[in-house]
Amino acid sequence: MNTRFINATVLTMEDEKILYDTEVFIKGNIIDYVGPYREDFCCKDCEVIDVKGNLLMPGFVNTHCHAAMSLFRGIGEGANFKNWWIDYMRPLEEKLEDEDYYNGFMLSASEMIKNGITTVCDMYMGIDQTVKAVNDSGIRANICMGFILGTEELSENGLIGYYNLLTNSGDRIKPIMYCHAIYSTDEARYSEVIKFAKKYNLPITTHVSETLDEVGDCDKRYGVSPVGLLESYGFFDNTKTLLAHCVHLDKADCDIINNYDVTVSSNPSSNLYLGSGIAPINAYLNKNINVALGTDGSASNNSLNMFKEMFLVKNLQSGILNDATLVTSFNALKMATINGAKALDYSSLGLIKKGYLADIIEIDLKQSNMQPLNNLITNVVNSADVNNVKMTMINGKILFKDGKLLYLDEEQLINNANKSIQNIKNR
Ligand SMILES: [Zn+2]
Repeated sequence: MNTRFINATVLTMEDEKILYDTEVFIKGNIIDYVGPYREDFCCKDCEVIDVKGNLLMPGFVNTHCHAAMSLFRGIGEGANFKNWWIDYMRPLEEKLEDEDYYNGFMLSASEMIKNGITTVCDMYMGIDQTVKAVNDSGIRANICMGFILGTEELSENGLIGYYNLLTNSGDRIKPIMYCHAIYSTDEARYSEVIKFAKKYNLPITTHVSETLDEVGDCDKRYGVSPVGLLESYGFFDNTKTLLAHCVHLDKADCDIINNYDVTVSSNPSSNLYLGSGIAPINAYLNKNINVALGTDGSASNNSLNMFKEMFLVKNLQSGILNDATLVTSFNALKMATINGAKALDYSSLGLIKKGYLADIIEIDLKQSNMQPLNNLITNVVNSADVNNVKMTMINGKILFKDGKLLYLDEEQLINNANKSIQNIKNR
């Protein structure tokens, strides 16, 4: 099946230029043409969609999430990070069973698809169920394999099983290695993950410097910062690295990560909600560090909404530094799309460009909150919200259109998720 979008306004994300009256042709799962309307083009096995001047842009890449944690939405409000994780989240997580991982992921997948998120990097347990949920939902995912605690068994054979599963589960799933954080896992597990990532040429991710407590505890215990400790483990060597949060890096940390292929995944909503702080994004941009965006899990956000993250990552810097010139709206859009795609090691994702994967969203420009269009890019970051997402296409397939998920029964997913959280509380 092919799709021909006509009469589109297009933000390719290659640069700030906006294309008008444009045709975008999708052949299978690949963008085949972006340009002026072709009068005599014969479109075989093709759906023609007139988007009537609405905006087509790349889908959002959510570079840090724990999707199944949407089951815990609203639990632990008012707790700081450490208290939230240890006293509220871990006890619930210990009661999770297979169907809960599935139901939690599906709830999040439906929310993400409706909100224009087309790729998610998901770090959680229950990998088998996550694979099933990614397949069933239609979203694109980088699924983390590695260690969440310092208690899991260490062996390359254990990891190989997950690697085989994740590399043989269809073209929308790719593996990424992880250790949860320096305070939850240990050097032996980091070493195992680093070794495996090098051998199989996989990107690698971890939480780092999320709170001042983490940085202070690390200094007391090891005499270095979390980033310094990771460098001593060899974490940044020979592979793409994605660092979630980075709220409290200092100049020396920036100098370290500048030497390697590192992306910062900033999660501003989660950092605000848990009282963790505001990441110095402007400093990272000044150092030419690649910055991407993530929602984190819904238990610390409490939604999966990249419009909110874009607004915050841009405007928090203006606010705390008393300077509105620092992070541009276009920069925030790059963080939400192409920068994330690069971080997750895709060679052709995150732009509307010939040869790229057809992960595209349509933004409704006809609603009052988007008019007038004095500056379309400013409007997308500062005026738009999830209600403006009119269509979501992932891998060439339209999954959401005009307020409806085309292949998922939303009511059923919500019921299943509610059953899961009730069962967890009763166990
Ligand atoms: Zn996280």
